Amino acid sequence: MDMDHVETLECTLCGAEYDPDQVIYTCPEHPGVKGILEVKYDYERVLDRFDEPLDGRIGSQWKYRAFLPVADDVEPVTLGEGGTPLLDAPRLGDELGVDLRVKDDGRNPTGVLKDRATGVSTTKAREFGIDVVTCASTGNAAASLAGFAARGGFDCRLFVPGDAPEGKLAQPLVYGADVLGVRGSYDEAYDLSMEVTEEFGWYNRNAAVNPFQVEGKRTVGHELAEQTRGEVPDWLVFSMGDGCTIAGGWKGFREFADLDLVEEAPRMLGVQAEGASAIHDAFHEHDDVDEVADTVADSISVGRPRNTVKACSALEESDGESLLVSDEEILAAESLLGRTEGIYAEPAAATPVAGLRKAREAGIVEAGESVAVVVTGTGLKDTQSAMRAGGEVAAVDPDVREVIERYGEGS
Ligand SMILES: *Cc1c(COP(=O)(O)O)cnc(C)c1O
Ligand SMILES: [Zn+2]
Repeated sequence: MDMDHVETLECTLCGAEYDPDQVIYTCPEHPGVKGILEVKYDYERVLDRFDEPLDGRIGSQWKYRAFLPVADDVEPVTLGEGGTPLLDAPRLGDELGVDLRVKDDGRNPTGVLKDRATGVSTTKAREFGIDVVTCASTGNAAASLAGFAARGGFDCRLFVPGDAPEGKLAQPLVYGADVLGVRGSYDEAYDLSMEVTEEFGWYNRNAAVNPFQVEGKRTVGHELAEQTRGEVPDWLVFSMGDGCTIAGGWKGFREFADLDLVEEAPRMLGVQAEGASAIHDAFHEHDDVDEVADTVADSISVGRPRNTVKACSALEESDGESLLVSDEEILAAESLLGRTEGIYAEPAAATPVAGLRKAREAGIVEAGESVAVVVTGTGLKDTQSAMRAGGEVAAVDPDVREVIERYGEGS
């Protein structure tokens, strides 16, 4: 294995360092999953290896391979993830009173930003020579892992909570994964997947605890930096569940700013649902942090986030903010985004739009500021929530008079 651009794995709690050429999850010095490890790079070596033009043409996230913690000689497991468009959103921007762009990451191969991380973690499994992969998931990570596992020829065993949306369970089944529906919450499914990882040595893609997989999420930050060069937005908005996505997006953008590949980095706005608010509570130092998670936005319905430390660092380092939105506000944002810009998002992916609206009302984001929101997943998998957001079908008889009644006479 040759990975000389990666220096070490460093514990975010105690600073202990570990050899990056081994399979390791969290720092063994702390009980449970608390000691999240962070990949540290030798940026001189990274830059030596990076010779891509920053011209906005992005075929896939592997354009940034020089930044990813994979060995030089391994063939990536990829479905062409990344390279998603950053769209101008003038109608939605008018509605919210900002200069708005939308990064549509729902266009990834399995419909979710997580594909970026999965491309990296399955490539690591290949590098380590492990042929069974696993994870716990509220749905999207499971579907993503199953797709990439099929692509790479791995066996895939998934732990999902009983209440995941059906569309998100159908997808991994079609990809040929074993889907184990855990009679319990996401947090319980998560603990179970960690136990089996220890028991069987399967490769675990879980958010946060696999130090490599989250590094793939940096590429959304790299892409945003490349796509906004010369006009970096004032704010970059993400939803937060476990907190890996916002942490990865920030790390990627910040790296490009630190390396002078882009002129500056934006402030981060992290948005959670009122029913799953642990990162927001930690950031604002609320005392009684509620571990029960209950929100229509299933992908961010996390009671005990694994990556609160990295998410809060992203907010602090960027001089950012966090806030909470209600389920009604999330569903209203899903419909607003679809109706104004033709972008179909699942609830967790529309949450940043709801958060932006609230941030404008609260005076956190000011009128006329420039903002990029990241839509993290497609609406196509969760038809039930979409029906709650979108209104009703109007039934008509096959008779032109009924249409005239609705719209008046034609020419
Ligand atoms: C997983 C997910 C998120 C949240 O990512 P975290 O890393 O858990 O904070 C947001 N939106 C969608 C669509 C997701 O699947
Ligand atoms: Zn430690």
